[in-house]
Amino acid sequence: MGINFTILHLELASLYMNTADLLQRALNFEFLTQEEGVFLFHQAKTAELAYVANELRKIQVPSNKVTWQIDRNVNTTNVCIANCKFCNFFRRPGHEESYITDIETYKQKIEETIQLGGDQLLLQGGHHPDLGLAFYSNLFKELKSLYPEVKLHALGPPEIAHVAKLEGISHTEVLKELKASGLDSLPGAGAEILNDRVRRLISKGKCGGQEWLDVMRAAHQLDITTSATMMFGHIETIEERFEHLVWLREVQSEKPAEANGFLAFIPWPFQDDGTLLRRIRGIRNEVSGDEYIRMLALSRIMLPNIKNIQASWLTVGKSVAQLCLHAGANDFGSIMIEENVVSAAGAPHRFTANGIQQAIREAGFEPQLRGQKYNYRELPENLVDQVITY
Ligand code: SF4
Repeated sequence: MGINFTILHLELASLYMNTADLLQRALNFEFLTQEEGVFLFHQAKTAELAYVANELRKIQVPSNKVTWQIDRNVNTTNVCIANCKFCNFFRRPGHEESYITDIETYKQKIEETIQLGGDQLLLQGGHHPDLGLAFYSNLFKELKSLYPEVKLHALGPPEIAHVAKLEGISHTEVLKELKASGLDSLPGAGAEILNDRVRRLISKGKCGGQEWLDVMRAAHQLDITTSATMMFGHIETIEERFEHLVWLREVQSEKPAEANGFLAFIPWPFQDDGTLLRRIRGIRNEVSGDEYIRMLALSRIMLPNIKNIQASWLTVGKSVAQLCLHAGANDFGSIMIEENVVSAAGAPHRFTANGIQQAIREAGFEPQLRGQKYNYRELPENLVDQVITY
């Protein structure tokens, strides 16, 4: 008869850990260990986790306001050589559907975004083998010269690592040049699960976990604001989820005092539709609404040094996202005028500007439009209640 090591481990852990003590320590803003997080994941009731996370949220973000944003995800290119097994978006170099977005398309999309009340572009793309630092630097400069008021939340650690490798220079040199060219903040894209056992299996063409963290460290040293993410519910263990959170927290602890570092954390469940992971390995997203709420609450508990926790309505839907607002989340993310990567893997949900505000009100909070740095914005007079689908 085989031994169930998880049960054995939990039984041993319960000899010296108990839920009430751990939750009390969390309420004191203590850093819980990876093992303590795993213990809570298995042992604490959802209501207990939600209560503690909500108490922490009330201290860190004391108002009844829930923030939301209007931005647009524009893809620089869909050409990619990383070949991640959960990605339906990319095309190989030379593929007939491959593209590099041209300046006229940017102009049209940015003008549409401004008309819809948006103030930010989330610029993401693939690891194009021929697009180096000069390409991104020139692109950012051109976009900023045309639309100086639009914020560029662009690329992500794997793309920075890719460009650094192409150019044979350091992450810091790449980031410095991009910041000087108009990069306003660096999204936490491509984190998935940071453990390299997982990355080798699902995204081995991307930078490793430690390099992802190193890019973020370098960005924080340059006072570039970043965010952090976790895509879970595929092949990772529960231990690897909590290791991920502890690593993020350590990097955040190292940031210069005046820097924002990770301004937000966004966890979301793997979207499996049509992905290689599902087709070849049969891996499905089996994260229930309850499990998502527990992970969201535990994110607030495990990351006391990251102020904003965002519920991913795009992947979990309105009802679960609303419950998350009572379980540690203080931000509802963006209406995302255009989103092509997560949606290509089955994320089916959509919000308009009125819809997202209504959802926040229904959950008992006051919607507050925000900018990229979580600064409050007035609702634009030209706010249009429209979803653009491509
Ligand atoms: S997730 Fe990003 S890096 Fe991975 S294959 Fe898709 S576009 Fe490339």
